[in-house]
Amino acid sequence: MDKDKKAIINFIDTIKQTLADIALEMHDNPEMPFQEYRSMEILTSFLAQNGLFVEKGLSGLPTSFRASSSNYSGHPTVALLAEYDALPELGHACGHNLIGAASIGAAAAMHHLNFKMNGQLLVIGTPAEEGGGGKISMMKNGIFNNVDVAMMMHPSNQTRCVSLMLALQEIKFTFHGKSAHAAAFPYEGINALDGVIQTFNNINALRQQLRDDARVHGIIIKGGTAPNIIPDNASAIFYIRALDIPYFKKVIEKVIKCAEGAALSTGCTLTKEKKDLAYHPFKPNYSLADLFRKNLTLLGIKEDSTKKEGGKGSSDIGNLSQMLPTIHIDIGICGLKTVAHSPEFTRAARSDKGIERMVSGAKALAMTVYDLFSSPENIKVIKQEF
Ligand SMILES: [Zn+2]
Ligand SMILES: [Zn+2]
Repeated sequence: MDKDKKAIINFIDTIKQTLADIALEMHDNPEMPFQEYRSMEILTSFLAQNGLFVEKGLSGLPTSFRASSSNYSGHPTVALLAEYDALPELGHACGHNLIGAASIGAAAAMHHLNFKMNGQLLVIGTPAEEGGGGKISMMKNGIFNNVDVAMMMHPSNQTRCVSLMLALQEIKFTFHGKSAHAAAFPYEGINALDGVIQTFNNINALRQQLRDDARVHGIIIKGGTAPNIIPDNASAIFYIRALDIPYFKKVIEKVIKCAEGAALSTGCTLTKEKKDLAYHPFKPNYSLADLFRKNLTLLGIKEDSTKKEGGKGSSDIGNLSQMLPTIHIDIGICGLKTVAHSPEFTRAARSDKGIERMVSGAKALAMTVYDLFSSPENIKVIKQEF
């Protein structure tokens, strides 16, 4: 192995306890999207103590940050991304406590080892991945304009260098009806809950005609106040997902028709609210993923699966991957049966294996930054593919 890469591995070994403490402290104090103040402080304090220049609260998002190393300048600009939000009730069931720790560890190694190479090294802290679209707001505000390549690792139930992600749109349907005594004067009422239930039924019929990659799933958030009152107001939120933008748009239209049909048949009026932050599908960069894979191999970690299928979620990194070459590496921290967004995964995100894989992720990220800084040819190939 290259002696500089050995130096990266050795350096990260000297800080691995600190990185573990950071990941565990974040795990013990999970914070909801846009509320990640403590997590941001933990990550940025480490970066500042290690000599990086830190700016907090970019683009109107108080829990976002950017750190840069004065030991590097010029191009390429490589951004290591940090996510650090958690989920309601489940805590760090997506393991974002490990993502931030890996990226800051990689940045500290590259900064300290000061390789005298061209390139700019950034850590960009992106809040609210779980539905808040922090990266999308930051993109809109130009935070990624001068970035050439973005990289992050994400804990998973298998190690996989390229995985696809689905586009995602959230829609809320509210049905407005008319209250009446449910036994004495039901014929005077218009049942808004029926509008919601009929929407679910229409979507369930639609499912049969959808492509395999499409996903439509929802919850009822308001369904009435008492069984003896015909509900005059009821609402549901749906997530609609698909693998490519044209089909995604078609599925959204079809789902809206399901709600409109339900309104027509029940006599309700319908209000539709489309969230303006849609997540885009992930655009893989195989050349960049290859570099990362080689570094994982040097660390003795084998990819569990090279299949792109299976376990596809959505992330605001999809939008970023459409703007610039990006990798989002799945790093296995548990067995296949332990899936993200479950209490079992929350436990995996603070397990010895989880911590060990976060440290390996930090090493592989730093080694890949090294590959990008040391070889303009690598950057050329990655950009050509993009
Ligand atoms: Zn998640
Ligand atoms: Zn996640």
